[in-house]
Amino acid sequence: MLKEKVALLKDEYKLLINGEHVDSLSGETFNTYNPATGEILTQVAKATRQDVDKAVEAAQKALDEGKWARWPAVRRGQVLNRIASIMRERFDDLVKLEVVNSGKALSAAKGQVMQAIEDFEMYAGAVYTLSGSTKPVPKGFFHYTKKEPVGVCAQIVPWNYPLMMAAWKLAPALAAGCTIILKPASLTPITALTLADICLEAGVPAGVVNVITGSGADIGSYLVEHPGVDKVAFTGETTTGKDIMAKASETLKRVTLELGGKSPNIVFEDADLESAVVGSVFGIYYNTGQSCEARSRLFVHESIYEEFVEKFIEKTKQLKLGDPLSPETHVGAIISAGQLDTIHSYVELAKEEGAQVALGGQRPKGAEFENGYWYQPTVIVDATNDMRVAREEIFGPVVVIIKFSDEKEVVHQANDSIYGLAAAVWTQNHSRAHRITEQLKAGIIMVNNPISTFPGLPFGGYKQSGFGRELAIESLDLYTETKSVVSYVGSKSINPFGI
Ligand code: NDP
Repeated sequence: MLKEKVALLKDEYKLLINGEHVDSLSGETFNTYNPATGEILTQVAKATRQDVDKAVEAAQKALDEGKWARWPAVRRGQVLNRIASIMRERFDDLVKLEVVNSGKALSAAKGQVMQAIEDFEMYAGAVYTLSGSTKPVPKGFFHYTKKEPVGVCAQIVPWNYPLMMAAWKLAPALAAGCTIILKPASLTPITALTLADICLEAGVPAGVVNVITGSGADIGSYLVEHPGVDKVAFTGETTTGKDIMAKASETLKRVTLELGGKSPNIVFEDADLESAVVGSVFGIYYNTGQSCEARSRLFVHESIYEEFVEKFIEKTKQLKLGDPLSPETHVGAIISAGQLDTIHSYVELAKEEGAQVALGGQRPKGAEFENGYWYQPTVIVDATNDMRVAREEIFGPVVVIIKFSDEKEVVHQANDSIYGLAAAVWTQNHSRAHRITEQLKAGIIMVNNPISTFPGLPFGGYKQSGFGRELAIESLDLYTETKSVVSYVGSKSINPFGI
């Protein structure tokens, strides 16, 4: 029945290596699920290390043959635009495919698939910015630099934004002329595989985009160590990022990391209260709180604390949980049983640490929530910044509210975290807003606004939230090397040794 609703859903998904859909060499597969119901959705090939070797070989061959990298940039841009056009034609179907594999609400998936499309469109134009320079050199010499693709890229993405993260990684790498081995999360592999098929259909040559599916700890790790890979771009947990950086250092691969967060959301006494309340609700519960940039530490000035918390709870109660495919739903399912357990254990921990659960703290009631993985939007109050629930990433629909009394103190507390991905400030005093943005150690700061990403604006973290920026023109630099060429064009030969 689900297959009637979701046209792009296939019975099985294979690896994509050198433009061909192939079984794993072991013939093994794994199931992928619909988190909203817990039902098996489809089967996916489970790659072995030998499959990884094949994918790397295909990517290296495509790079060496210059199939893609030596195309005129304008032609690569045309193909990126074609990828975006095909995605636009299949927009509704891609959205539904993303919803059934991730459990996220349709409204959230729509925005994310649209952003994936716009990402390809942006990099289709950005190919024209790939340029070199010439420097003044002594008489008789001529110098130029050129940008070349960094090479074979391993791109490893998580389950919380399966299609959008794949697009964030593929689009700049393709624009720069790289070849790719994409490794989606095992919980959500199917939209990345579908996107790779669209790349082929749009004219990306065979071997330029390869997709391997299977265990991150096994084949992901092997890919990171592989001597045939030049760069690793990773999004996921901070501990995995550290492991990847250590392993990639063996072969001095280029590395970019987009990691976890515990982003502060600061509401001052002079904020527009209504906007701050609804913006803060969105800031945590969007994508069921499974967002690296979720504003999960909510600091509220003591003079408005009671009123703010009351209004926050009132608005949170209005959020509709339910069938992720319904356009009415605000909050979808949790990705897996394991993640559900983690979230609930943090809520229990909050109580042990002396905070109070003011709303939620359990699975929602009702027949539609009996199967699958669901958790109520949860509000924890009377928390302090030193509690583990305020320091560790919960990655679910759980906000921790902390009272503060002055500006200096709240800036200190906001920065008192190993993370530095995003932050938000709510105040009508613009000099205060910009005084604070200067002091906050975070890569993305929102002022009186809960939306953190727009194509073209750099996205990435400070501190242990990683390094490197995505989504912006400057991301192209992270997929290129600069080659400096100096030539002698004078008429007399040069003889520096005078021999
Ligand atoms: P993980 O780090 O476990 O997994 C992310 C990806 O890495 C998956 O494809 C996974 O494969 C793979 N992987 C796991 N272990 C290894 C390894 N040792 N070597 C190579 N690859 C590996 O994170 P989650 O999937 O659990 O994602 C949630 C986390 O990601 C959260 O902490 C969140 O904050 C962070 N995140 C950060 C974002 C950002 O932009 N900064 C965006 C989104 C999420 P497999 O699925 O097979 O295990």
